[in-house]
Amino acid sequence: MLRDGWVPTMCYQCKAECAILARVEDGVLKEVRGNPRGRGKACVKGMAGVSLQYNADRLTQPLRRVGRRGEGRFEPCGWDEALDAIAGKLQELRDRGEAHKLTASFFPHSITDPKWRFLNAYGGFINTALPHCDSAKIVAFIKAMGGVPNHHIPPAFFTVPKGGIMIMAGRHAFGCLDDASVPRDILEAKARGAILVVLDPLFTADAAKADWWIPIRPSGDTALFTGMTHHIVMNGLHNKSFVENWVREGDFERLKDYLADKTPEAMSRICDVPAKDIIKLAEMCAAAPSVGVDSFKGIMLGQAMDFGHAWTNFLAVTGNIDNPGGQPLPDLTPLAPVEPVPPAPNLHERGWHRTGPDKDKFAKYSFIMEPTWYQAQAIKNGDLKVLVVAECNPALTEMGQEEWRSAATMTDSKGNYLLEMLVSYEIMLSETSRYADYVLPDKTYFERWELLYMPWWYNFGQGIGLRQPVVEAPEGCRHSNEVFIELGKRLCPEYFAFKDDVEFYDRQLTGLGLSVKKLQDLGGLWSPGTLGFRKYEKAGGFGTPSGKVHLYWEDLEEVGQALPRVDLAPEYRVDAEQYPYVLLSYRTIFHQGSGQWTHNNPQLRDPVGGFRDNPLLINTATARKEGIKDGDLVTLRSRSGQVRVRAKCTERIRPDCLGLHHGFGSSIGRVAAGGGGVSDNALIPDSGTTLDWQDLVGGESHVSTRVRLEH
Ligand code: SF4
Repeated sequence: MLRDGWVPTMCYQCKAECAILARVEDGVLKEVRGNPRGRGKACVKGMAGVSLQYNADRLTQPLRRVGRRGEGRFEPCGWDEALDAIAGKLQELRDRGEAHKLTASFFPHSITDPKWRFLNAYGGFINTALPHCDSAKIVAFIKAMGGVPNHHIPPAFFTVPKGGIMIMAGRHAFGCLDDASVPRDILEAKARGAILVVLDPLFTADAAKADWWIPIRPSGDTALFTGMTHHIVMNGLHNKSFVENWVREGDFERLKDYLADKTPEAMSRICDVPAKDIIKLAEMCAAAPSVGVDSFKGIMLGQAMDFGHAWTNFLAVTGNIDNPGGQPLPDLTPLAPVEPVPPAPNLHERGWHRTGPDKDKFAKYSFIMEPTWYQAQAIKNGDLKVLVVAECNPALTEMGQEEWRSAATMTDSKGNYLLEMLVSYEIMLSETSRYADYVLPDKTYFERWELLYMPWWYNFGQGIGLRQPVVEAPEGCRHSNEVFIELGKRLCPEYFAFKDDVEFYDRQLTGLGLSVKKLQDLGGLWSPGTLGFRKYEKAGGFGTPSGKVHLYWEDLEEVGQALPRVDLAPEYRVDAEQYPYVLLSYRTIFHQGSGQWTHNNPQLRDPVGGFRDNPLLINTATARKEGIKDGDLVTLRSRSGQVRVRAKCTERIRPDCLGLHHGFGSSIGRVAAGGGGVSDNALIPDSGTTLDWQDLVGGESHVSTRVRLEH
């Protein structure tokens, strides 16, 4: 039953999913603000959710493709026809013994999501909408600490004590790359006497708030952290009690041997941070009551596993694991399993999509998050036959987009598409939906139910958040979860013996003695109210085989990565003569990366109050040297593409770097079609052409590359 007033729910204008209050008047959404009960804040994107809700380009009926893929020609069809066609194709695929050749690509925002259940029950494969942004870090933390980290969003800034140090390594938190409450929490920690250090080649909004901005060379993070670890260990400044009690026997000595030649001076030559500054920061960290490290760009680079490894080693020797202000490990909330629980298919056995020419090299290390490029390879190899996308836009917003577009249109000798069916759930048409056989009109986050729980999420990470309908959806819209449940009832009914999404969530909530109704009565939020620090002490150890933190990774000995490689990632080293600048892609608070939601939003593309296009940031001295004036149209060329873009001269960026805001390039929708901007992804080489740049777990050079200027 919908009601007027301020209704608690969860934002989804970007993937952070902050706790918000939505003001409804006569059944119309009027306003959004943060929900203080859930520590929530609303950023400018979140507040512009009202414009998303009432966007004139919203889809309200299923569409069937009538042209060739990519042409974007459709005609309306009914839900019955669309569901019959999709279920029929999935039935056929499974009858052929190829259920694992279904991939659903979506943002894995909650482990309660019925889509996961459907894929496990049917035998399909998950390819996330954030394919590789932090997979290296997740794997690094699992290897070192034996548990899934508080990924994406560490540390818990609201717990940083006076004197604690917050290191942001390419994070862009004040661009709201994650929860809108993070900037507030950082500023409040600063007000308590904590210190903010920002490592970034770009003077970001984070840097503007920092006590110390260090304009590091791109990808120098591994060297910087290793240089600091050297200074701390070699001078006996490490946390002796943590190392003695909680680091695996023998690992500290191995680390010491490895560090012998990784002096601050040697590391300075790689990261371009003066040795005296590496030493100063190391000594500050060794003396501080806590150090938290937060990164984003650093974990999206070609050698991100090495950075994750250097990072965890640094946290371990300084004793900053699962302590206030350090790296929290998640508490688990006891939701009830919905019986019978479908077993996940063994994708190693069945042949998952790690199918490119690098399969032999990487298969044994592969992590389930895979980039867009792999979808394309899997289509070409015959390993991906049905693709369902929801809340993501692989045709635009990832490196590999051109490869993806080409693969989606490939045919066999009879003219049949290699990808036999492509289904796209959309609030409004996107670049990806132009390739779809069926486009299904989704509900917005103001119109649907979801029970949100990820044990490592920032604002509701230690609890549960309820997304609930606050306004009626247009007739004809159905949420993708509802459709997956419907498909489950048809194709694997033994696992979908419940009425609907609300009953599914009700059953999960019995683990907490709750129901959806009771959770509504609680204001839509449940939390144990604690992060339960130093859980490893109570548990008698970490989740690693030894129960201790592992600094040395013997399973990576054969590839020379048992300890971190400190060099810059390859994308920053190759072709430096032809391409003298490093392109940095960065974020602001106005846009998330997935296209239409923010790029087709009139408030967020407003030329005065929003962010309409993405000029090329160029250091004033570099512009002078290149003969470029503010506002000049220049060509930016990389080894894989080129764009024409206006120059914006600024002191905010290193002279050897250029900056482009990520995520532009969409021209679908009334607002997007009228806006400017260029796609940074057009410049980033596909991983298929640069296999040696890849990480063992699927991370590769997907946010930066070398470029040159032509004008
Ligand atoms: S960061 Fe902003 S847009 Fe993203 S979920 Fe939070 S309020 Fe919404």
